[in-house]
Amino acid sequence: MNTAEIPQQFRHLQNYINGTWQAAKGGACLAVTNPATGLEIGTTPLSGADETRIAIEAAARAFPSWAALSAQERAGKLHALVREIEQNADDLAHLLTLEQGKPLAEARGEILGGAAYIRWFAEETRRIYGDIIPSPWTDRRLLVTRGPVGVVAAITPWNFPFSMIARKLGAALAAGCTIVIKPSELTPFSGLAWGELCARAGIPAGVVNLLTGDAAAIGAVMTSHPAVRKITFTGSTRVGKLLAGAAGREMKRFSMELGGNAPFIVMDDADLDAAAAGAIAAKFRNAGQTCVCVNRFYVQRGVYEAFAEKLAHQIRNLKVGSGFEPEVTQGPLINTAAMEKVAAHIEDACAKGGRVLVGGKPSKAGAQFFEPTLIADGTREMMVARDETFGPLAVLFPFDTDEDAISLANDTEYGLAAYVYTQGLSRAVRLSEALEYGMVGVNAGIITTEVAPFGGVKASGVGREGSRYGLDDYLDLKYVSLGGL
Ligand code: ADP
Repeated sequence: MNTAEIPQQFRHLQNYINGTWQAAKGGACLAVTNPATGLEIGTTPLSGADETRIAIEAAARAFPSWAALSAQERAGKLHALVREIEQNADDLAHLLTLEQGKPLAEARGEILGGAAYIRWFAEETRRIYGDIIPSPWTDRRLLVTRGPVGVVAAITPWNFPFSMIARKLGAALAAGCTIVIKPSELTPFSGLAWGELCARAGIPAGVVNLLTGDAAAIGAVMTSHPAVRKITFTGSTRVGKLLAGAAGREMKRFSMELGGNAPFIVMDDADLDAAAAGAIAAKFRNAGQTCVCVNRFYVQRGVYEAFAEKLAHQIRNLKVGSGFEPEVTQGPLINTAAMEKVAAHIEDACAKGGRVLVGGKPSKAGAQFFEPTLIADGTREMMVARDETFGPLAVLFPFDTDEDAISLANDTEYGLAAYVYTQGLSRAVRLSEALEYGMVGVNAGIITTEVAPFGGVKASGVGREGSRYGLDDYLDLKYVSLGGL
């Protein structure tokens, strides 16, 4: 496969609206570059308000007949979509590495993870049960049914450009909703590929629509158009607050998967080898660019130096380079702003007493590559203690007591994912209960799976994706009081 080009079958440089590929008005477009090389790989439509309205209206027209299908029929279409993804996993992974940069093995994992979400929701389609409530009236029956909210608008980020769409599209279609999706302009092709996959799976025109372009203009129409009943967003807390505010003013439902500032606590009774391996997975996956990536390592003083040594050893084994090279475990960062943020966090940490144990500078692999970096002796005054780095920087903070670990870990506006390593049962239970996070990994560095609820508390957002709870945000309850019996 040519590693510089988009695989032909997914080379869609247009929006997918109402079942057809369409350019933006006047053919306006934006260049998309490969983060590993800086070279252009294609262009994506620069759509705005008009294209968004057209897409929403297509979704609104498609809604009644999609919602009217039997659960079995909707499930069948979603299973067909799973087959399309799995059969084309190699090309989809290639495309993902090309535009996003992650190592090919991780890209394949994301594609198959996306298929797993669609399969999960295909299965859940047939379990959208209602209730019959014991009636206080003998001549009435009280029924509760769950039906689709209507047209859903989705905005997704660049770090998991394929699987973030899977979580939203799968839940929406299972529930009987239709959807308009705006992938990130940095990684649009893995998003637009869903148009090709949906068409091949026989999903009717208008049920799934994808468009790229001016994020603010598209978002403004999505949050104000009367046909849209729900907004689902994954991205920064800043944009999430903006969209939630706008959706709230129009009384639209919303779910938000926003930023994190994940703590990783290593207690003095932890298996340090397991903790170091878990730390690598939880910190350096996708070059540290995930919202559940560790931002703060809290290590109990008795094992502080020993853990630092083990983690340093593992970090030195990471290989930086193009995601297409075998053996590479860390690809490029998404853009120069991401490079600058990592450098700023390192500079700030060093100025405040941080000790660089590994890395510390941009990598020779290319303009957008950064060395995996480990810094010891973090303090709460450092930028990295407050602000998500979203890059390959691990900072160790020592602590003394269990209570210190809990209060330091919770000392953030965010509450997405937290990790604890301990062999003690009561510690595991007490810490996991005390951590104000939507997800906690105990002796586990990778926690995401389609069968469990993904989501956060506090500034990390509202709502859950995946699991049996992941459908709730796409369904409205209806109570029917059936009288005169
Ligand atoms: P990040 O900082 O990780 O890039 P963003 O929140 O900026 O996160 O981006 C996530 C998604 O939100 C992307 O699809 C982006 O285009 C979109 N986005 C950015 N700004 C806005 C906005 N004002 N309105 C709607 N969507 C936006």
